[in-house]
Amino acid sequence: MEDQKKYDLSKIKQNLEEATPTEIIRWAVVTFKDKLIATSSFQTHSIPLLFFISQEAPKIPVVFIDTGFHFPETIEFRDHIVDLFGLNLKVVEPQIKGEEFLRTFGPVYNQSPDACCFYNKVAPFYLFMKNYQAWISGIRRDQTINRKQSLAVEQHPFLPYHKINPVIGWSAREIELFIDEHSLPRHPLWEKGYRSIGCKWCTSAVGSEENDRAGRWLNFDKTECGLHIGSKSNTEP
Ligand code: SF4
Repeated sequence: MEDQKKYDLSKIKQNLEEATPTEIIRWAVVTFKDKLIATSSFQTHSIPLLFFISQEAPKIPVVFIDTGFHFPETIEFRDHIVDLFGLNLKVVEPQIKGEEFLRTFGPVYNQSPDACCFYNKVAPFYLFMKNYQAWISGIRRDQTINRKQSLAVEQHPFLPYHKINPVIGWSAREIELFIDEHSLPRHPLWEKGYRSIGCKWCTSAVGSEENDRAGRWLNFDKTECGLHIGSKSNTEP
């Protein structure tokens, strides 16, 4: 495939592993041009990446997947950050959303959160990505076991797009120091112990000694919504 030759990861990924977030974003902008998007859940740890995007690529679409189940504080914070940074927000939604989803299918998040996440997040995002070639994400290796092997630039395991992770090597501590040093805002629920925030049904506050994501899908053996499922480049032998 022509695109695969053009963006030969074996030649570039080693260099980008050593690059700064700004350098990685610049490379992505030059390489993928108007086929590049970013995603954000607009929580506290999203802020440094959104800041870098605002500096380097303010016009790229920043996708927020609106399941209809977010905390109202998240929507308010999202709108505040979009205004503050001058971002190009793009809201992606499932076909049937929020209350209508619950009336139609019931509380699927309680019975099968994987199915709920697939319908509300993964499928709408995959449909949106049919018009793009690359996706900037804010994942970090210190977040989950699944993310430990992730690279700065990866290829999706079965769909024809690249994933770019500019802050992949940052720690939670580095993220928070950056926010403090640049006087950037935090999500309004941060002070109440919500250090990783998704849909309200599946997010709980955590204690100061717990992993940031310990409050996600508390009653299930689930750590990922399904968007970040590994990559061809880090699953190959
Ligand atoms: S995080 Fe919870 S409510 Fe949101 S889509 Fe996934 S299972 Fe459904």
